[in-house]
Amino acid sequence: MKTSRMSVKELLQSEDCGKEVEVKGWVRTKRGNKQVNFIALNDGSTINNIQVVVDMEKVAEEVMKKVTTGAAVHVEGLLVESTGSGQAREIQAKEVIVTGEADPEKYPIQPKKHSLEFLREVAHLRFRTNIFGAVFRIRHAMAFAIHQYFNDHGFYYLHTPLITASDCEGAGEMFRVTTLDPKNPPLLEDGSVDFRQDFFGKSTNLTVSGQLEGELGAMSLGKIYTFGPTFRAENSNTTRHLSEFWMIEPEVAFNDLEDNMDLAEDFLKYLIRYALEHCMDDLLFLSKRLQEEEKDKKAEERSMELIEKLQFVLNHDFERVTYTEAIDILKNSKQNKNGKFQYPVTGWGVDLQSEHERYLVEKHFKKPVILTGYPKEIKAFYMKQNPDGKTVAAMDVLFPQIGEIIGGSQREEDYNKLVTRMQEVGIPVSAMSWYLDTRRFGSAEHSGFGLGFERLLLFVTGMGNIRDVIPFPRTPKNAEF
Ligand code: ATP
Ligand code: MN
Repeated sequence: MKTSRMSVKELLQSEDCGKEVEVKGWVRTKRGNKQVNFIALNDGSTINNIQVVVDMEKVAEEVMKKVTTGAAVHVEGLLVESTGSGQAREIQAKEVIVTGEADPEKYPIQPKKHSLEFLREVAHLRFRTNIFGAVFRIRHAMAFAIHQYFNDHGFYYLHTPLITASDCEGAGEMFRVTTLDPKNPPLLEDGSVDFRQDFFGKSTNLTVSGQLEGELGAMSLGKIYTFGPTFRAENSNTTRHLSEFWMIEPEVAFNDLEDNMDLAEDFLKYLIRYALEHCMDDLLFLSKRLQEEEKDKKAEERSMELIEKLQFVLNHDFERVTYTEAIDILKNSKQNKNGKFQYPVTGWGVDLQSEHERYLVEKHFKKPVILTGYPKEIKAFYMKQNPDGKTVAAMDVLFPQIGEIIGGSQREEDYNKLVTRMQEVGIPVSAMSWYLDTRRFGSAEHSGFGLGFERLLLFVTGMGNIRDVIPFPRTPKNAEF
């Protein structure tokens, strides 16, 4: 009978000691002597390796020579209780077959510490390191948890378009989508490009947000969420910005700003709790690595231990503060008075930079903060106007290490106010009449927000650069693989 193949994860938890098993995976390391070799084997199912013990009298030396780091192997043997490997189980090999060699002279991922910068250059192979195995298992778990949360709470998953003809989604520069010949586009009399001759008969772009279409769904289905890629052609080369990133955007009819804040807080806490309950092995690995990196820092400069940091967020109510209060705090802070901010806080009306957001969270309140009531000038046209005439019902959730993780608002449901605002900021009202129809017919208060998936992952994994939490990052001047 053919023994059935098991994953390393299953084998490490198996109660079937003494049984014949079969496993396939990649060699992480091999060590040993003339009598016995030990292979650490990993197949991606868990951060942990299974140790394969090879009696050198039983397996040809020729075969064992090819068992090098990165090689794919197929092992059959006896599952036994481990005495020394630090794991509960190991395999006494009866047969080892190398199905794919990895020439140690050429294979870039050797068993030593590689820098994250180097691994970014070989992103097609970085999955094979412990650290990226951990990050991408957590990425999967978080994606799954997001769908779980919304499904459990009665939300419908809505697929909004990636190609859009509206260029007023209000969230930054867009990438053009066109099939016109870049060298010789059809021109109008005035010399501008004639997009009527383009593929869609008009100028189109990649979406920067699914919100506007999401609102249309919410105004009938009640509660919807989107979860898809978004594209921003901003030239921001920071550790928190990608040109292609994934965003989760719930939108709920009849929710006001407070409901929206409650949803954001409950949702984030659910996701963090899910990570703690389902990804502990990977989190422990990442935590150890971070502590290793910080061991030369002074105690006060070290960041909070990863798991402690996640629990910390779970155990605290997010501080809900208005923009106006925040500006007061920032303006009067020692940091500001001593000129320690790169962008000094001069007064009401300025946009907050990430250094300000992090000051509020890390130094002042020492917990996540939800900022509301931003000046309407620095926020998108669709946000609900407050009675003061100056501010809008915006809410940004600010996290330690990250700054803004969520941006959201209650939406303006009043047709006239919305149109007036669109005219003020120069948005073509006629091109947006499909959007305005939600306010023309059965308008109701509604709210939503956008969570940057990779920003969430930065927080949960403790990774320092957003390029390291997405498999193939797209950033200015970089679209490799
Ligand atoms: P920021 O001010 O940090 O650039 P934003 O205000 O432009 O962000 P929103 O338009 O509010 O961002 O988008 C909602 C969420 O999407 C943000 O809170 C953030 O988590 C995420 N996000 C925005 N831009 C990016 C980006 N370029 N790369 C990755 N995530 C992003
Ligand atoms: Mn924002």
